[in-house]
Amino acid sequence: MRTLKRDTLPLNTKKQISLREICQAYSNEKQYWLRQFQAWSIQVHLGRSRTIRDRMIKQAYKSPQGLQARHWKLALEDAAETWNKYWQALFVKVRPKIARRKDLSEIEQHYAYWLLKSFSSFAAMMQGKSPDPSFPIEKSAQKRIANYVRRLIRACQGKPPTVKISRSVRFDANCYDVFEKKECQYIKLMSLTPGKRICIPLSGKTAISGTITLIYSADNTFNLHIPQALKKKNPPKTSLEAVDLGYTEVMTDTQGIRYGTEFGTTLTQASDTLSHKMQKRHKLHSLEKKRRLNNPQQSQRLRKFNLGKKKQHSNSKSVKATLEKQINTSINQLIHTKNPSILVTENLRHAFIYDKPKKVNRRLSSWIRGKIQDRIAFKALAEGFRHEQVNPAYGSQSCPLCEFVDQGNRMGDRFQCLHCRHEDTADRIAALNYARRMNDPEIGLYTPYSQVKNILQDRFHRRLEMGKNHDCSGQDSRHRTRNVSTVPIETENVTAGREKSRKNRTVNQRAKQNEYV
Ligand SMILES: [Zn+2]
Repeated sequence: MRTLKRDTLPLNTKKQISLREICQAYSNEKQYWLRQFQAWSIQVHLGRSRTIRDRMIKQAYKSPQGLQARHWKLALEDAAETWNKYWQALFVKVRPKIARRKDLSEIEQHYAYWLLKSFSSFAAMMQGKSPDPSFPIEKSAQKRIANYVRRLIRACQGKPPTVKISRSVRFDANCYDVFEKKECQYIKLMSLTPGKRICIPLSGKTAISGTITLIYSADNTFNLHIPQALKKKNPPKTSLEAVDLGYTEVMTDTQGIRYGTEFGTTLTQASDTLSHKMQKRHKLHSLEKKRRLNNPQQSQRLRKFNLGKKKQHSNSKSVKATLEKQINTSINQLIHTKNPSILVTENLRHAFIYDKPKKVNRRLSSWIRGKIQDRIAFKALAEGFRHEQVNPAYGSQSCPLCEFVDQGNRMGDRFQCLHCRHEDTADRIAALNYARRMNDPEIGLYTPYSQVKNILQDRFHRRLEMGKNHDCSGQDSRHRTRNVSTVPIETENVTAGREKSRKNRTVNQRAKQNEYV
């Protein structure tokens, strides 16, 4: 699904007021349901909000906000969805913590995950019970794990969800009609009065269906957000591709092709301007604070003319738009040239660590991470490929040929293995390593950094040992040919002769090493 934004044409004051009223009423109603859901007795039904709805209908519930029946049901569904998202986001945080507990047995871990699987077991656990699963587990262990998961949830849990700004209202297909008159598209939205609809002229024309959302912006304009199904595309042809996300460019793939090379310049410029502006603003803020008592007029002038937020917001909006465009273009280019069925990236849920931390504004970098994640997730749905995230530990410091891992392997953008002298760009090395981590049985997404280093070092040493043995056995050529076919197709389509010979070497050496992995 993608969301299409549609603007409304200017509306008269009466319509504006009635739309704002319905926004307010809907938000209050949603807030009411969000609060109701704080009770575990209602939380149990989170996955099935219809149960609550039917119960309320039986009790002849009437919205205290004056919403029509259809509309309070939508607000209820909306609140349930918000709670669901809230829990799912929390589970994403909690699951890796459970995975990291090495003292739990397999069945105990399984039970911990099972508790988070359905809302009925989850709600029971949160109320101090230890619900019985369908698989066998000791009663005492059951109780211990339930206590542990409950404590974990409470520790990670933030504030319960609330409606922060009352600026949106949903309408399902029965709450609106669409029609055209004199080349203009109109939508009639349900109001607070039964039988009376608000007619709104829209700019442009597109098909409108499904549950739409009306958004009211601070500058008194209204937008419609309309869900649109994505067209199914042909499944991708090639298989796996991995990319390393960078600073100077958006990303580099396993062939060393760079996408979005202007990214670094834009980012540095944006960060510099931002920090420069912020410095100045800080000074003005302190001046304004000092003047507040002695010279309130000057203080007010400073607030009004020098410390306004409008220009600041519009500047940051335009920077973000530029960066977003570069991110989108590079992802599109990658998909266009490689058409992968699986795209591997580093774990995007972790914080990005740029090599130039001071140059990049922290807030900006976390925003970029979110954007890239969103974009790839969206493209994966639209283009039909799978997005896999892998552990990024030592990605650009370990040699893909001999597994030798050392900080000294990497010097700035260059990579040269201190053991086998293999040379490449650091970004490509990272991409190659990520591609291999996809099916790595030992290095999982949440394997701690130090453990990854130990695993890589072990492999390197094992390889050295085996290498010695193979030199005298002389029968490993058969093994090599067998293993070549199992190597992922990372270095396909390489045309240059030099590249080709290097590729054979890469494949052979990797095959050799695959035997020991
Ligand atoms: Zn090496």
